[in-house]
Amino acid sequence: MEKVKVSVRELVEFVHREGSIDLRFQARSSMTIGTRLHQLIQKGYKDGDEKEVFLKGDIISEEIHYVLEGRCDGILYHDGKVKIDEIKSTARNLDEIEDGSRVHWAQAECYAYLLAKQKRLDSIDIQLTYIQIDTEQVKIVERTASIDDLEDIVRTTLIAFTPFAKIISHNQKAFKDSIPTVSFPFPSFRKGQKQLAGAVYKTISEGKTLFANAPTGTGKTISTLFPAIKSMDGGKAGKWFYLTAKTITRTVAEEALSQLEKQGLSHTSVTITAKDKICFKEETRCQKEYCEFADGYYDRINDALMDILKFESVMTRQVIERYALKHKVCPFEFSIDLSYLVDGVICDYNYVFDPKVSLKRLSDESKKRTVLLVDEAHNLVNRGREMFSASLSQSSFLEVKDLHRERGDLQKSISAVHKHFILMKEGMKKEGDWNVEADGELTTVIESFVETAEKCLGEQGREWSQSFMQLYFDALHYVRISRLYSGEHRFVLDASGKDLTVKLFCIDPSRMIARGSEPYHSSIFFSATLHPFSYYFQQLGGNEDDYRFLIPSPFEKEQWKVEIDPISTRYRDRERTLARIVQSIVDAFKNNRGHFLVFFSSYAYLREVHEELLGHSLDAEFVVQETDMKEREREEFLESFQAEKKQRVIGLAVLGGIFSEGIDLKGDRLNGVIIVGVGLPQPGLEQEMMKEFYQGQGKNGFDYAYVYPGLNKVFQSGGRLIRSEKDRGVLRLIDDRYLKTPYRSLLPEEWTPFEVIR
Ligand code: SF4
Repeated sequence: MEKVKVSVRELVEFVHREGSIDLRFQARSSMTIGTRLHQLIQKGYKDGDEKEVFLKGDIISEEIHYVLEGRCDGILYHDGKVKIDEIKSTARNLDEIEDGSRVHWAQAECYAYLLAKQKRLDSIDIQLTYIQIDTEQVKIVERTASIDDLEDIVRTTLIAFTPFAKIISHNQKAFKDSIPTVSFPFPSFRKGQKQLAGAVYKTISEGKTLFANAPTGTGKTISTLFPAIKSMDGGKAGKWFYLTAKTITRTVAEEALSQLEKQGLSHTSVTITAKDKICFKEETRCQKEYCEFADGYYDRINDALMDILKFESVMTRQVIERYALKHKVCPFEFSIDLSYLVDGVICDYNYVFDPKVSLKRLSDESKKRTVLLVDEAHNLVNRGREMFSASLSQSSFLEVKDLHRERGDLQKSISAVHKHFILMKEGMKKEGDWNVEADGELTTVIESFVETAEKCLGEQGREWSQSFMQLYFDALHYVRISRLYSGEHRFVLDASGKDLTVKLFCIDPSRMIARGSEPYHSSIFFSATLHPFSYYFQQLGGNEDDYRFLIPSPFEKEQWKVEIDPISTRYRDRERTLARIVQSIVDAFKNNRGHFLVFFSSYAYLREVHEELLGHSLDAEFVVQETDMKEREREEFLESFQAEKKQRVIGLAVLGGIFSEGIDLKGDRLNGVIIVGVGLPQPGLEQEMMKEFYQGQGKNGFDYAYVYPGLNKVFQSGGRLIRSEKDRGVLRLIDDRYLKTPYRSLLPEEWTPFEVIR
């Protein structure tokens, strides 16, 4: 008999949920107030009462063995009777709540059934405790139910759930059964590939963490996905997340899955595309009054889920869009709902690590059976810094104050924030100032703004400005980060221009990255450029029990012709050395064949050199990276590089930009790469704080804040050159620092020996 584990919440939401997506409502109900009010009610429990109790039970229904489980809010013991308490905070007037909602009752009844069965009770009391969020008044609705009645209710709910459970269970069984039959989708392994796959398999089998530096050409995607799936044959893990920083890498993962499918793998996976990218509407305003895909979403979503899970396996963006249109449901929320139900999820790092958007419904139990495959893991350092930082500006509060003059409570809470901004500005010693301690009073007034905003947004039938919604989400994020604030953060005040911006800046995200991956069964952090390894190992939260794996490049050294032209590109020397740098680019282009990509540390530098190059009557077509290029413009840039094209191409791009990573110009599509400079980040307040922080930890602060992040961009850009065993090309590094410590010693092995241009 099939065994299906299902949580009470999952079950009742699936069967009974209805209505529309409403970001205003979702925001409100899931946030600060709800938790506080829950605790307020629980504090009033008498001695002997219990709170947050885990309940579990087995039920056989329609030839399925269900394991039903969940955590109830409270169990109360009065006058020899037992009562289940389910607490709900609400924005509605309590008089409007007559008998409680069906979903709430169903949830409480399931808990009551599990408890009554466990305690062998013939009947049990059940109560729904509604607490009004503005007045904190409480309304209790209660009833007594016999075990027979409860059993009927639970069985009826399970019967409604069964068609869905059958699809899920069928898919999961097919996945498990197919794993032993799947073989590696290529006739042979590339150099290093088998070892990497072996290391991944061993790590997952042991439930551990691996940090792997696997240079370009190792075929990292298939070498991690294949063993991850194989390890699920009888192992503890049963689900995987493939996490990336860029959309292009997600496509590579989808292709790898399709290859495994051809080898007999039966599975389901979904790709999550960012909300603003996949949204069907012109503006992303998730309210039923504006968006027909939000309106009635929950009334249609179950049919959409069953339909797609029955007929699709690799659910890419296009597949999601197709089914979302067919069933008129929001494609973003649809992909999120699917992510809880499939074997594999391909998505951005955010959905696992970012406190703002992580998948909240993924239970600890599910995490324990899930493997994280973190691709291009070097990117997670900076992304982690962003995720665990938060900022707010004075002007955004003033804008909302102006827009909503009619709301006295909102005006009052914004005025309190504004007043505090003025005080902070007066206390500043210089334009950019920082403190180790965060300003607690500021957090208090922002919390109070969040509560007021939640009350406003919860009002039905009212339209609020986008600026207000945005400010609310930013303030909420600020409050969240203030709770995570630690010695790795700094409180930064920036008063450049007229505005004042406050930022809770995360200098070192390592502890929080480690905390984010800890609940999962196993994590594999891999990249072609975890170099220097010790730096990335520390920054990504590695500890001594974790496995480390470094493999050399699978390509031959002869494929690279590396040259160093020792000309200063330092800011102070740029004007003086501009002509020599341009000449160096011209020489490299003229002395070699084919298409070239030239990388610069900034757009300004790129434009200066471009202008000079145009005066050199080179027989070349220039394609130039611009800021904010649209998808089509990016494609056109890359399509310019064609192997058979007679007209030679010079592409000008920036280090760390969209063309420096994740692009694959194989064979004669690219024959030369020139890198101007060593990629150091611009000096600034945050970079200087990082330097000081790491220096204080006994590390080389300058290397941590400037050299390593800079060189990583160089390694990534240089890595565009050789993409397969057949590629050959020239790599010219223009900067005298490449001949000095630490730069010289940090060059990848395959880039040495090199020739110095005299
Ligand atoms: S389609 Fe766009 S606006 Fe509508 S609910 Fe989805 S994300 Fe929001």
